[in-house]
Amino acid sequence: MTGEGEKSAFARGVWRAVALTLFPEMFPGPLGHSLAGQALEQGLWTLETVDIRAFARDKHRTVDDSPFGGGAGMVMRADVIDEAVRAAKEQAGDVPLVYMTPRGRQLTQSRVRELAQGPGVLVLCGRYEGVDQRVLDAHGAEEISVGDYVLSGGELAAQVLMDACVRLIPGVMGSSASGEDESFEAGLLEYPHFTRPASWQGREVPEVLLSGHHENIRAWRREQAEAVTKERRADLWKAYTANPEKSGDEN
Ligand code: SAM
Repeated sequence: MTGEGEKSAFARGVWRAVALTLFPEMFPGPLGHSLAGQALEQGLWTLETVDIRAFARDKHRTVDDSPFGGGAGMVMRADVIDEAVRAAKEQAGDVPLVYMTPRGRQLTQSRVRELAQGPGVLVLCGRYEGVDQRVLDAHGAEEISVGDYVLSGGELAAQVLMDACVRLIPGVMGSSASGEDESFEAGLLEYPHFTRPASWQGREVPEVLLSGHHENIRAWRREQAEAVTKERRADLWKAYTANPEKSGDEN
């Protein structure tokens, strides 16, 4: 865990992410590059890891056991995870605890926005069949999924969550990249993008984008966003048509 450097970041109120994992070496991984990596270097957020195995109680450093009730696979032990979570909380302070799991509520842009506006996040990364439910309940962990598919571990899912939050921290995205116009912000998927060359392999950029007529461009983009949302995402389209002004709030 941390040294003095991170503690002072905590004191300054910098957004802090802590990954509880059996594979600390998987961090920062992609988060050490590009936007998130630059922001990390600039001290706009902090990233720490807690090695769950360090809290194992036996000489074999066991963190899992077979499931009560039988069945395949192993389950991460409540007592081991509890100690890891306590250590992380002591270090990071009052930060929400999230457990990445396909059983969780699917991550949305609005939950990302809320988490990004808070003090940070402790993210518990599962392995094997997952974590003993009692320790999740005891710590009030929020269960979050990154989609309807099963990964082999929670580390990639945690990185997805952290990346989505970090780019919304004030100062992380430059003026060239605004979050306001993106997919989900108005309850719609985003319109398509085009750049130079204007003509490429016989494919032309839509005329309106070359017109310089800002009102027409805005209207065209809105139409495109509505069309793609209607075609691909019945759930978003339903919410949007029910209340076009507010539907971004639920995403
Ligand atoms: N037995 C679990 C189930 O069927 O729901 C899957 C366990 S998975 C092999 C191991 C770990 O990967 C999980 O504990 C979780 O932390 C992570 N994981 C897998 N898929 C995920 C997803 N879609 N969203 C978030 N985390 C996921």
